[in-house]
Amino acid sequence: MQATQTQNTDIKLVEKPEGYEGAGFFATSLDKVVGMARKNSIWPLPFATSCCGIEFMATMGAHYDLARFGSERLSFSPRQADLLMVMGTIAKKMGPVLRQVYEQMAEPRWVLSVGACACSGGIFDTYSVLQGIDRIIPVDVYVPGCPPRPEQIIDGIMKIQHLVETESLRRRDSPEYKAMLNKYGIE
Ligand code: SF4
Repeated sequence: MQATQTQNTDIKLVEKPEGYEGAGFFATSLDKVVGMARKNSIWPLPFATSCCGIEFMATMGAHYDLARFGSERLSFSPRQADLLMVMGTIAKKMGPVLRQVYEQMAEPRWVLSVGACACSGGIFDTYSVLQGIDRIIPVDVYVPGCPPRPEQIIDGIMKIQHLVETESLRRRDSPEYKAMLNKYGIE
């Protein structure tokens, strides 16, 4: 009984967005409500190819518990994911696969590049390794480190959450966004 009471008091509700409230009403903008919902229900697709993926496994485990951020539902189908997490060394041969996964994700989609290898090729300055995934797909947040600790991965996810929360609903239709995708040759 005691335990149940403690658990109940530990429940933290998501803060409501800015708005106007009075007796029996609360008004805010659609952007803010959608941002709040998206921010707290991110479905990540883990694209893990090597050691950084192990750090991600720790991030998902009970101690770090990514579920606290509403991100416990991993998606292994790009069509049901909105955050692509790239973790590990990406060989040039793997580049087209990564790009295809990105292209299969529906908008809005975000990309988190985890670890030195995904961000810049890391220590593998060789002919066979892609020197950063931003050569083939756009990246929203970079997490440095070899490997980054789970705290750093969580920090990256919180930065993504901030982007998700504050993004205008019109951004994806803007000429700037389309021009950015065109630079990558993505329609
Ligand atoms: S950044 Fe370091 S830990 Fe991460 S995949 Fe590369 S070599 Fe492994």
